[in-house]
Amino acid sequence: MTVRSNESKDTMQGIPVSPGIIVGKAHLVDRSRVKILYQYLIDEKQVAGEVERFENAIRATDEQIKILKNRVPEHVKEHSFILDSHLMILKDSMLRDSTIRRIEEEKINAEWALKKSFHEIRKIFAQIDDEYISNRIQDVENVSERILRNLSGEMVESLAEIRERVIIVAHDLSPADTTELNISKVMGFITDVGGQTSHTAIMAQALEIPAVVGLESATARIADRDLLIVDGSTGEVIINPDDADIIHYQEKELQHEKYKSSIARISHLPAETPDGYRIAIKANIEFLEEVAAVRDHGAEGIGLYRTEFLYLRSKVLPTEEELFNDYKEVAEIMNPDPVTIRTLDLGGDKFASHIEIANEMNPAMGLRAIRLCLKEPGLFRTQLRAILRASTFGHVQLMFPMISGVQEVIEAKEILTRIKGELDSEEILYDENIPVGVMIEIPSAVTISDLLTKHVDFFSIGTNDLIQYALAIDRVNEHVAYMYQPFHPAILRMIRQVVLEGKKAGIKVSLCGEMAGDPLCIPILLGLGLDELSLNARSIPLVKTIVRAIPLEQARYDFEQVLQLNTAMEVRDYLLKRMKKMIPELGEKGFFPT
Ligand code: PEP
Ligand code: MG
Repeated sequence: MTVRSNESKDTMQGIPVSPGIIVGKAHLVDRSRVKILYQYLIDEKQVAGEVERFENAIRATDEQIKILKNRVPEHVKEHSFILDSHLMILKDSMLRDSTIRRIEEEKINAEWALKKSFHEIRKIFAQIDDEYISNRIQDVENVSERILRNLSGEMVESLAEIRERVIIVAHDLSPADTTELNISKVMGFITDVGGQTSHTAIMAQALEIPAVVGLESATARIADRDLLIVDGSTGEVIINPDDADIIHYQEKELQHEKYKSSIARISHLPAETPDGYRIAIKANIEFLEEVAAVRDHGAEGIGLYRTEFLYLRSKVLPTEEELFNDYKEVAEIMNPDPVTIRTLDLGGDKFASHIEIANEMNPAMGLRAIRLCLKEPGLFRTQLRAILRASTFGHVQLMFPMISGVQEVIEAKEILTRIKGELDSEEILYDENIPVGVMIEIPSAVTISDLLTKHVDFFSIGTNDLIQYALAIDRVNEHVAYMYQPFHPAILRMIRQVVLEGKKAGIKVSLCGEMAGDPLCIPILLGLGLDELSLNARSIPLVKTIVRAIPLEQARYDFEQVLQLNTAMEVRDYLLKRMKKMIPELGEKGFFPT
């Protein structure tokens, strides 16, 4: 056995988002700003060459932006003005001429001159008393970063090209980046930024690769090829571990795996409490390829098909035929179990890094999801036609995301009715009674849930966004990740209100946020009387184990107790104590937080 030096050992703590322990070499990828900038003086003879180098970088940047512009999909074309403004910035004398002047007069290299010009522009913008205009400095910065990349000859590395078994270390990965990961090669990933319910985290779970996010300084502290241990269940990362660490973690993983296979047999038993209350357990999926795992893990249907990843995966918009074939296959494989297809929820953190569209100040509150679909009827129509056509191949339900009020539901349903009419006249079959539901994930939808019940067949509570909007925390921001509190009394009361209104109106209420897969949340979700939970397939055996161990009476009692408590921390402590007492073996195996 080799004994490694302990000198450079270091440990970090991040946010665990996808379980599993991995030991492997770090592969640093740069998805952030160009940080390394050499500053040097040049002599008179070098000036012309330096100016030419700068001009070449400007030309390369111009070409790249034009290529990007051509790739902007039809439905967001109107936002491509942002790229036009980038082209104008490139030609603007404040950036271009002043940089050349600096190279010539101050005799400094192009990168340094460009940085100086940028800082000068930033100072000017800061004095402008108009928030919109002063914020446009971001565009200038973006353009400068591109020129810098071209000056340094640095290209953004494609993750699809990684051919070694490595652990990716990145400042940030977008959900689109994760779709590129070659999962037979990439063991897992860790990032500086991100939160527990960021879509990058959700993708890691879907791909079943261990991941830790929100480490803040991983890219600064880890060098390429460093040996790492990553614990996706606890968020621990050890840099250059010693042999004792490696043995300890491998043993831990083995124990965890052993216990997981011992509960796997439960996956095909019903999720029924000892006193006979049956709750439906369904799965969330992001890709068609996950359906096999969904069946294996004992899901009773798909409670949430997040359809945006088919759009993120490719550089062009999917056609109606491609969408139809995808939805049809999911419906057929799952038949007779239901499949709830959610219409496009693009936006927020779900933008492909290769599709550059309007840089919104607050993307989570911007033109996303149903808002984008209502504004772009062509985009919406293609997807709705594909879903309707697939509906005769199984039991398909339709769900609209990010509903904030009744008007949006009326408009979306009007479009749906129009499309049904189109299909009728084309004599194309579809399920005329396809159930239509909405996600309850904006606080306004909770408040008017009684009104919404009159327009829909079911509700699905999206706690990932509901927590984000109710507690005013960005779900991808690691600095406020500590405030992502499913047990906050406000959240518990909101869920209760939606369940009560659903019951009053006789419609089913499901919950499909990450809370549904969190062992500590299960007793209160049972106590709340939800009809259905939808979660990542891998957690189903564990959730069923818990449901089968807790009598409904007990869950109701605990929920009433919890409602009396004042803070998320008190609720969490109460539940942790109860769970450790009710199902001690899960506590011993590390399934509950410490
Ligand atoms: C949610 O918001 O809870 C949800 C399930 O949807 P998404 O995570 O895709 O936003
Ligand atoms: Mg959501």
